[in-house]
Amino acid sequence: MNKKLDYVSASKLRLFLECPQKLYYKYVEGIEEEEKTVMIIGKAFHERILEGKNDEAFESLSKTYKSRIDEMQEALEREPLWKPGKLEKAEYEFDVKMKNGTTVKVIIDRLGEFNGENAIVELKSTGNLQRWDWWFAENSLQPYIYPYAYWLKTGKILPFYFVIVTFDPKPKCKFFRKQCTEDDFKLLEEQLTLLQNSIDTEMWAADPQERKCQECPYFRECPAARQKEYYSF
Ligand code: SF4
Repeated sequence: MNKKLDYVSASKLRLFLECPQKLYYKYVEGIEEEEKTVMIIGKAFHERILEGKNDEAFESLSKTYKSRIDEMQEALEREPLWKPGKLEKAEYEFDVKMKNGTTVKVIIDRLGEFNGENAIVELKSTGNLQRWDWWFAENSLQPYIYPYAYWLKTGKILPFYFVIVTFDPKPKCKFFRKQCTEDDFKLLEEQLTLLQNSIDTEMWAADPQERKCQECPYFRECPAARQKEYYSF
């Protein structure tokens, strides 16, 4: 089996639920999505806050974007809720097995005290929170998979926080908290099992839908989108 399919993760499940064919292009064909400036800013900001340094991609950014990252850091540090307590682990990477043998892999940005409780924290940045629905759809599985993996490992269900910093038009912070229950985990297990079945049987059914295909980075490769004439090539 392709090494990249040895385990399941939040991003794989997101792609699978959007369209199994997208998962195929990314993980079987290995076609990388084009890295956009917004993603480079996000990674650079992440490294700055979690590791206290600038990453390599930081240097590729223009002066304006570099100062934008400084402003994002200032906005976060001004935010009263951003008072992380005792850190247990940063960038905590581990994998666990589900009952059916599927390996789930996660990398938790921050595990430890946060907002007066023990929690899993993910630091995120995004362009503009007016696009919150879009942003949330992109990231909505992490609040489930991360606590789920931690629960499988330790038997404890921890709350999950997104700490989101936007940079357009001005840096701003937003916080989101999710407390999962065992019922949430049951639903997640069903979705992960479907993903694992697709991996095992190498079935990557395309699920073309106009809006999804128009935003899909793989539309040029995808015959299903072409057949539907969502694009003229
Ligand atoms: S273009 Fe549409 S059908 Fe093809 S992979 Fe993307 S979302 Fe799926």
